[in-house]
Amino acid sequence: MLTISGVGRCFPSGTEALRDASLRLQSGDFVALLGPSGCGKSTLLRLIAGLDRPDSGSLTWDAGHPPEPGEIGYVFQDATLLPWATAEENVFLPLRLRGMSRSQAQPDIAAVLARVGLTGFETARPRQLSGGMRMRVSIARALVTRPKLLLMDEPFAALDEFTRHRLQADLLALWRDLGCTVVFVTHSIYEAAFLARRVVLMTPRPGRIAREIESPLTPGAGTRLEPAYAKLVADISKAMEAELR
Ligand code: ADP
Repeated sequence: MLTISGVGRCFPSGTEALRDASLRLQSGDFVALLGPSGCGKSTLLRLIAGLDRPDSGSLTWDAGHPPEPGEIGYVFQDATLLPWATAEENVFLPLRLRGMSRSQAQPDIAAVLARVGLTGFETARPRQLSGGMRMRVSIARALVTRPKLLLMDEPFAALDEFTRHRLQADLLALWRDLGCTVVFVTHSIYEAAFLARRVVLMTPRPGRIAREIESPLTPGAGTRLEPAYAKLVADISKAMEAELR
């Protein structure tokens, strides 16, 4: 889908956020960008989204051009919902921006809200929803345009552990059903090990990709209790320690 070659990004402040980053993204991948704060994870995600440009290196899309805006879904740590709008109005927003009428969009809105488990909460406003439910609305809003590529920037970092586990399992089910490609930024080794098919370790000052670790797991309900999961967490931890030394 995308080949990132030797990408660098230095901000005018002089911060070298990213140096010589290379990564191949295949259609249907689930890749976690894992590393401590400030190692350039969000910067790399913004470059993939086309929200920023690299100072060096290149991003080459197999299609010959970057995806259209509606083909990329972006989810942030904060649900960033319109506080005065209902769940369905929030999900309608990207379709409205594409010129769709509410009645045209309604079946898609209802389907995607059902898919993230929010049937019955269509007319609730963000303040009436829990943090986990607000994040579900945010994911529904990202999915309503049926993106090929879903970019997620620490989407579950502010949630309690129980809610986070539920949402992680639901995200995996969504990814399998929808067949989209996911790039997921996290600073949690446990989260990266549970979710990703490929974990990309990043290190700071300057931000760079240190190595990639393939997951041997088939994630499912019991994954967190499996010895293979514990081993993967240990392998990633060791690799990260070695890289940060
Ligand atoms: P991460 O997502 O891994 O926490 P970021 O990609 O957000 O890291 O940031 C990498 C580095 O670049 C940090 O030192 C951050 O302060 C700096 N940075 C990020 N965005 C900007 C910006 N717009 N202007 C200046 N510095 C920035």
